Amino acid sequence: MSGKTIQCPCGYTLHGHTDDEVVRAAQEHAREVHAMELSREQAMSMARPD
Ligand SMILES: [Zn+2]
Repeated sequence: MSGKTIQCPCGYTLHGHTDDEVVRAAQEHAREVHAMELSREQAMSMARPD
């Protein structure tokens, strides 16, 4: 099973099993913790395969 990981500059690590999951997790984290709107492109550019 593969997935994606995003390491936020704040030190938080996000995981998702699919691109959609990791993008959604990153958007929620950015909104709740950083009061930022993250685009799908921005989230995907930060994502690395697990
Ligand atoms: Zn963060």
